[in-house]
Amino acid sequence: MSDRLYEKLSWQVGDVSIHRLVEVVLCAPIDSLFPDRSAAELSAYESWLKPNYLDADGNMHISIHAFLINAGGMKMIVDTCAGNGKNLPLYDEWKNLNTPFLENMTELGFGPDAIDRVMCTHLHFDHVGWNTHKVNDKWVPSFPNARYLFNKTEWEFWKDADDPYESNALEHALQPIFDADLVELVEANHQVCDEISLIPTPGHTPGHASVLIQSKGEEAVITGDMFHHPLQFAEPGWIDAADVESDRAERTRIEFMQRFGNTDSTVLGTHFATPTAGKIVSDGDGYKFES
Ligand SMILES: [Zn+2]
Repeated sequence: MSDRLYEKLSWQVGDVSIHRLVEVVLCAPIDSLFPDRSAAELSAYESWLKPNYLDADGNMHISIHAFLINAGGMKMIVDTCAGNGKNLPLYDEWKNLNTPFLENMTELGFGPDAIDRVMCTHLHFDHVGWNTHKVNDKWVPSFPNARYLFNKTEWEFWKDADDPYESNALEHALQPIFDADLVELVEANHQVCDEISLIPTPGHTPGHASVLIQSKGEEAVITGDMFHHPLQFAEPGWIDAADVESDRAERTRIEFMQRFGNTDSTVLGTHFATPTAGKIVSDGDGYKFES
């Protein structure tokens, strides 16, 4: 996979700086996320999907990355990726990872001890993995000085639900944070600080939230998995196999595009490969992603 998919990217939104830290990039056939769909159905959108988001054979690039945010000295990580040494489902590329994720954070000026807030857009295993890491065979919090913000509705759902992916995320990456008393259960519209707030975007999961950054008249929004891939700007109704509630997820995608489409807001895709950021703009009856 090319270096470009792993390059360091950062953005400035008013006074807030945002960095992307990639853990791993997957190369995934369309039907691994969208059952019974194929690359041939995307031919009308190839001009803006290729080569960044689809490879020459029509496979999706799915980037697993975190966003590191510095807002007035408060340091945050949004979504903590998959983590090392786990036998994760669906794709080979993220099985038993061994990446220097925490060291890479330090290099970017976000040493684990300096993190003030951990935000998880939702509690799927590829968004909570580095909440903890293994020390002497025990999963311990990676960010011991942080408050971990988990959405209340999301936690209520997952604490008793069967994990459809058998990832053991509850045991590895969530329960140890509760045990260490570092969790703050928040509403989906929680205000984190002056510049940063959550906005409810339910459907992918019941308590899914996106992250809105506003500073000095500028605005950016981190999608979470409301959109897994930019193709969903054109096809918001395609059933995404990972969505817990398909109809609600589709409605949320459409409402989101109506709110942020054709505005100056920068959209940062949680699984969008390089260049990751862009604007939602009208395209015929629908929308496209302009990077
Ligand atoms: Zn995800």
